[in-house]
Amino acid sequence: MSEKVFSHIDDHIDDAIDDLAEFCSIPSVATKGENMLDAANLVKSWLESLGLETALHETSGWPVVTGEMDVGAKRTLLFYNHYDVQPAEPFDLWKSPPFELSRRNGRLYARGVADNKGDIVTRIWALKALIESDVEIPVNIKFVIEGEEEIGSPHLHEFVRKNEDFIKADGGIWEFGGSGIDDRQEAWLGLKGLLYVQLEVKKLKMDSHSANACVLPSAPYRLVWALNSLKNEDGKILIKGFYDDVNTLSNAELEIIRNIELYEDDVKEYYEIDQFVNGLEGHELQIEFYNGPTCNICGIGSGWQGEGSKTVLPAEAMVKVDFRLVESMDPNDILSKLQNHFDSEGFSDIEIAWHDGYPAAKTPVDHPFVEVVNTANKRVFGHDITIHPTNPGSGPLYLFKDHVPMVSIGCSDFYSRAHSPNETIKIENFSKSIKRIIVLIEEMTASFD
Ligand SMILES: [Zn+2]
Repeated sequence: MSEKVFSHIDDHIDDAIDDLAEFCSIPSVATKGENMLDAANLVKSWLESLGLETALHETSGWPVVTGEMDVGAKRTLLFYNHYDVQPAEPFDLWKSPPFELSRRNGRLYARGVADNKGDIVTRIWALKALIESDVEIPVNIKFVIEGEEEIGSPHLHEFVRKNEDFIKADGGIWEFGGSGIDDRQEAWLGLKGLLYVQLEVKKLKMDSHSANACVLPSAPYRLVWALNSLKNEDGKILIKGFYDDVNTLSNAELEIIRNIELYEDDVKEYYEIDQFVNGLEGHELQIEFYNGPTCNICGIGSGWQGEGSKTVLPAEAMVKVDFRLVESMDPNDILSKLQNHFDSEGFSDIEIAWHDGYPAAKTPVDHPFVEVVNTANKRVFGHDITIHPTNPGSGPLYLFKDHVPMVSIGCSDFYSRAHSPNETIKIENFSKSIKRIIVLIEEMTASFD
């Protein structure tokens, strides 16, 4: 079936790009909360026009759009995406306006083209091309498109809890992916979990003249000492029991990562560093990349940070710390271990003022659906997809993991600059990603358990 549908896509690729342009013209920036319903309704109307049964599910935040096409088939394919985007600021670094899709040198530029509006359009267009080519769709299709991924999916669990039956499927395609530095397509089978905390300490009623530092306590020093107790210079996290639940990688995962090129020299050159943490390299670096939990300072603040000097003893200090968690680590457990750590190390004055988090999740590398994705990739891109047991980043995959094996692929590439100015995708990848979904739908009918 694919030849006929492929030429339909080639003939109509400009129409697909027009749809993407319309989508990207809506600045659906979740963190600002603007234009969100316009974006949700556009996606919903596209799904509706293809004959899917759609719904807008209210949550305490922005609604979740769902679409379902039940053709009575044995297998069901589910897509998870998000209609929200990151802020486009700083605007002056964009070569063309962020919310007007621009086409230059075989690439498309706009906020959201890579993350994640381009992927949504490729998936909807795959269905559209099948329907317009009069090809029967051989699997049931479901879409879950949320509007809060870029702010940590704080309300997606409300939708999932009420709709566990809806998210059951034989295979699922997660929101993002693309090609790596070597131009080969990549598939991500998991996402790490996250615990994000804001730590605050207040030692004085108000800021004081720094001359008084000889007799008054220092909030920023208390914070620095507390932080110093969390991790040593070798990168080992010193919170008691932090590593207790870390699962080692399975033999199948170890075998797979051994063959993954992490392009150590290119990365070192990119960041202008001489070596990785602890001098890690080779297989040990691979293991850390895929299975290393972290304790990272995201931002730190206290006292005078303007130009020139101000001799002050700050009353308060704060820091934002994120912990990336690997499979089996529980964010609530790590949170209480962090609190215990502060209490037992004499830092009870450090307050965990705010926290948020969720666990990691992975699809097993030997799940048959992974091979289905690889076959589809090979037929369109001409090579085996690089399988990563997990992405080092995080996302709400844990909500789906008991209901559907998820694989993350997409239309981005190494130079896509997601979250940054001049976000971009290659038109070629956009078109091939539509085709890959079409072949995937075809391959889903082949037997796999
Ligand atoms: Zn993103």
